[in-house]
Amino acid sequence: MGNTIFSKIIDREIPAKIIFESDTVLAFQDIKPQAPVHVLIIPKIEIPKVSDLKGKEHAQLLGEMFDAANKIAKDLGISEDGFRLVINCGPNGGQEVYHLHMHLLGGRPMTWPPG
Ligand code: 5GP
Repeated sequence: MGNTIFSKIIDREIPAKIIFESDTVLAFQDIKPQAPVHVLIIPKIEIPKVSDLKGKEHAQLLGEMFDAANKIAKDLGISEDGFRLVINCGPNGGQEVYHLHMHLLGGRPMTWPPG
């Protein structure tokens, strides 16, 4: 049992449109999509935010999150045209849910700088 809405999605206590699942990673559609493709990729273990990551401890898990992002991008047909991966960290980073997650955004051209 976890503390955030994403733990409840992992535990199937609340529904989500799940796109990909492995032993360590879950990916599901964002409830408020900001692009034609907007998927959240999360570790199943609870890590609140990027600044809690430890390279040696979490390297494999992070690799698996990137592998999942690439697989989903290919499966959803946005790999060729490109996409954006975003991880918000803390209040100034715009993080709302304190369970580490990577946004996979695609299906339209992105602008820069971010807001
Ligand atoms: P953050 O701002 O923390 O980087 O992103 C949190 C994301 O989670 C937001 O894009 C928001 O739309 C999404 N989100 C919040 N609650 C839910 C939910 O209950 N289900 C799903 N699928 N996405 C959620």
